[in-house]
This record gives sequence, C-alpha cells and structure tokens, in this order.
Amino acid sequence: MFTDPKLESVARDAIAVDEPERLLARFATLTRESGTPDEHAAADYIAERLRALGVPFTVHRPDLFLSIPERAELHVEGDAIRCRPPAFARSTGGAEMSGAICYVPSTYAGGTGDLFDTPSAASASLASDPVAGRVVVTEGYSMPGTVQAFERRGAIAQIFIHPGQDIHEGICTSIWGAPTPAALPAKPRTPVVCVNQPDGQRLIALASQGSPRATIRTWLREGWAPCPLLLAEIRGADDPDEFLLVHGHYDSWYVGIGDNATGDATLLELARVLHGLRGKLKRSVRIAWWPGHSTGRYAGSTWYADHFADDLDEWCIAHLNIDSPGCRDATAYEEVMWMAEASAVCTCAIADALGVRATGMRPLRAGDYSFNQFGPTAFYMLLSNIPIAERKARGYYAVGGNGGSPTWHTPNDLPPVADPAILRRDLAVYLTTIVRVVNAPVYPFDYSAAIDEIATAVADYAARAKGRIDLDPVLRDLEMVNAAYVRWRADADRRATWGDADERRQAGATLRRLARILVPINYARGERFDHDPAIKLPAVPRLEPAVRLAETPDDQQPFMRTALIRERNKIRAMLRAALRELSHSPR
Ligand SMILES: [Zn+2]
Repeated sequence: MFTDPKLESVARDAIAVDEPERLLARFATLTRESGTPDEHAAADYIAERLRALGVPFTVHRPDLFLSIPERAELHVEGDAIRCRPPAFARSTGGAEMSGAICYVPSTYAGGTGDLFDTPSAASASLASDPVAGRVVVTEGYSMPGTVQAFERRGAIAQIFIHPGQDIHEGICTSIWGAPTPAALPAKPRTPVVCVNQPDGQRLIALASQGSPRATIRTWLREGWAPCPLLLAEIRGADDPDEFLLVHGHYDSWYVGIGDNATGDATLLELARVLHGLRGKLKRSVRIAWWPGHSTGRYAGSTWYADHFADDLDEWCIAHLNIDSPGCRDATAYEEVMWMAEASAVCTCAIADALGVRATGMRPLRAGDYSFNQFGPTAFYMLLSNIPIAERKARGYYAVGGNGGSPTWHTPNDLPPVADPAILRRDLAVYLTTIVRVVNAPVYPFDYSAAIDEIATAVADYAARAKGRIDLDPVLRDLEMVNAAYVRWRADADRRATWGDADERRQAGATLRRLARILVPINYARGERFDHDPAIKLPAVPRLEPAVRLAETPDDQQPFMRTALIRERNKIRAMLRAALRELSHSPR
C-alpha cells in the first residue's frame, strides 16, 4: 500500500482549528435553508475566506428544485398535536385533509445502516387493506420507500412517530435531485407529518379505542430557486487533469452545527492546508460545498453530476464525501462507509493517522453519493461516531449524523455539538487519505475487492433463485476479470512511476474506466448518468429480482426470467468491456 509518510505528517502538522472555529461561529448565526438569504450569506462567507486564503475557486448559481417545509397542523379528536412536515410532503396549502386513523405498528431503524430500509409493516400487501382511504400512523422516520409504500396501499395521509422527544426534520421524496418528466409522478402525493414519541403514544392509545379522525393541514414551499454552489481547486503538479472530488453540503436544518457546519469547516481547512502543499500534490483536489442537500434530495451534487458529467466521467479519480464530522464524543470509527475497493486505503489511513482500527460498511444510497451511476469509486460519508456501546448506554436511537447524537436535524444542533479536538482528528484522517490517493503512482484502490463483493452478491442471487436463472456465466466472467486485473495490477505497479508519465497516466486511465464499469454494476439499477431513486439498493441491484423468482407463481416466472436475462446480458457486456480494458497491459 502506497504511503508518503513525510508529506502526510507535514499535512497533519499543518492542521489548525482557528479557521474551522471562525466558520462554526459564523454558521451558528445562519439558518442555512436552501434558496434563502442565510444560505447565500454562508456561501459569501466561504467565498470570502477562500479569497483571503488565496485558494482559487468558482461560484456556480444553479436553479435547484426544492421543497421547504414551513409548518403543519394536526388535530385528532379536537386535540392539537405538535408536528412537522418533511420536505416534499404534499402541501395542502392550508386546506384540511381528514380521515380515520389506521395504526400500523412498525419498528425503528436499529442503526445508521438500516435508516433507508422500508419496514415490512409498510410494504405488506393485504387483500382488503385497512390502510386504504385512511390516515396511516406508524413508527419511524418518513423515509421515501415507506412513504411510497403507504401511498401505493391507498393511504390518504401519513403520520410518523419519531423515536424520541424531538421531531427530526427530513425529506420524503424518492426522486434524486431535479425530477425529470418521467420521475415526477413519483413525487409524494399525500400530506405527511411527523410527531414526537409521547404524542405518538397518545395517538396509538386513541387508535386502540376505535378509529379516531385526524385532520391535517400542511404548508410547504415548492419550486425552483437559485442557490450558490462553491468549488475550490488545488491543481496537481504532475497530472492536474486527474482530480479527487472532496465534497459536502453547506445547507442545513436550523443552524446545523454538527450537520454540516463541522463538515463545511473541515472542507475549508482542507482547502487551506492542501493549497499550502500545492507544489507537492501530484494530482488535483476539487473541493465542493453543495446547496440543496436537505430540501432538494442532494440537488446541488446532482446538478454538478449532470452539468459536469463529461469532466467527471473522464477525469474524476474518486470522490470523498464529508458529512457530520467533528462532533462531541465521536471517538470511534466503527461504521465508516467506503466502497470495497477503498477499504484497504481507508483502514490504513485511519490506522496511520490516529492509531485506531476502523470498520467499514457499504455506502447507503444517500448523502450526496450522486455519482454512482457513472462510476467513480467513493469513500467516507459519515466518519467518526460516539462509540456504539456508549450510544447504547445513553439510550440513543439511530440517527443519520451528528456522531450519533439525537441533536441531528433538530433545533438542538447548536455549537456544543461540535468539538474542535475531534474535528482535528477527522481532519488528520481526511488529509492522510487524500495525500495517498493523489500521490500514489497507481491509484491505491483494490478492484479485486470490488469484484469479490459483486461475485458474492451474484452467487447469493443464484442460490436464492434456486436454479431458476443461470448466473454461472456472470460468475465465470467475474473470475476472468479478476485474474486479468491481478495480472494487470502487478504489471502496472512495477512500471507506473512518477518517472514515467506515459505509463502512469495510462494506468490511471485504465483504473478510472474500470471503476466506470464496476461501480455501476455494484451500485446502480438505471442507466449511466441517470439517478436511481433514494431507496435502499442491495449489491448488484440489477439482479435483485432473482430473490423473488422462486416464490413467484409459475405462470409469472417466465416474465421475470426474461427481465433477468436482459439484466444478465447487460452485466456480461460490461464485464467484457472490463476485460478489454485490462487486456492491453501498460504498453
Ligand atoms: Zn448532512
């Protein structure tokens, strides 16, 4: 594994927290809702600091499609109950929607990894469904898959009971970024509100005594709004066209200190330190601050993916997402997201920077991972967390940021959530990883690990389909691609050096093209350059229907098999392309 101990320690020694602390103090005064003056003020602040630091940057002003939840009212049997609507719930514009309550008992997410799961209680399909025509009440966050499932079952409105005292803000549309005409019908059609645990318990008690009526009114502001998007660049000294994209969102719920002012401060400090090292970084680093994450379902990063697709496709080495680092008590690295091929580089970087053993997980279909469908390798999203055992001891429930603290997406996400000492640790991790990626003669990603993850998923689908679809050809292709990769890699590691620009650039180009094939196989269902919905995707999602094949009625199986054969063909063609990439060894 490539390391550059001298430069890495220079980079880590350069970390200071005064710039981050100034940003946190300023952002603590700004409710950075996208499309509002406070968001613009935050963008102006970042721009002003970049200018002062001498870091070259660009400001784009895309029009993003947003839904800002203003307020909601809920009355049950005459009682007013405090509630909040998630972004993209249907706005009744003040009109009343009322109906009988139907309580559907469900469960809360057990950890960050299942936040996007659709609970079986929601996806059940019943012959005469009690949900149809009623106001559904259920436990959990208003996640897009769940909201969609209840709409499919005919719910006229939805009430989600959150796990604690607080109501957490959120977004319930499954549409990733700006909708296309084809995607628009998937926009939520029902009014949705969220209530806290005690109020939810009251609702459940009422529902157990009969069918009380609920009346809901929602006010959301939906439409297109110009939002600043900032992009800094530190040009590499040797291969400046090749770049690592390092990014995070700067819009927030309330003043969002842990989510994501700490991330914005981190990005700014990275810009400062990396700019100071600019002559020593061989490839480029682009640093992006996105708007539209919270109320536009990653609208900013999706806009960038859409409008800079050619550049990203051709030159992006990988991307590194920064969300909610630097939070109080977040000393553990137990649930760090990275793609399989980045596992070794991330684990080693964390170990070398902090002496901590990290454990990883597959990145969720979330968090500004808006690039999976055309395929750069990716790593990190949330990073440090309060240790799992400590969160359990404190009685914390699963959240999607703030180091695991229930302040996430609430008015309590205030300055005490941040901890400069933890921020410093996370910065050390980011810098160590970044130096290794941009300065390794051959990118430090192990694509055998990705091929292995894909093969495991395919074998699992084959087993669950019980012989009703033949996936052996895919497994054989994968073996061939892996053998070719191992040979190619040994050769490239030997030949590609900082002394031989041709060999090195060719090796980089091959690895970028290999990622463009393997990442979409492992992470995408739809076409390249489109955006799959924000609904949980398993590994190799194209073959996922194989899971249901054996349980499908006999007369329906041939239709399903036809679809699966077509997906198998697509994957095999992609693997043949990978094989062709790897067959011409560097010269
Ligand atoms: Zn966030």
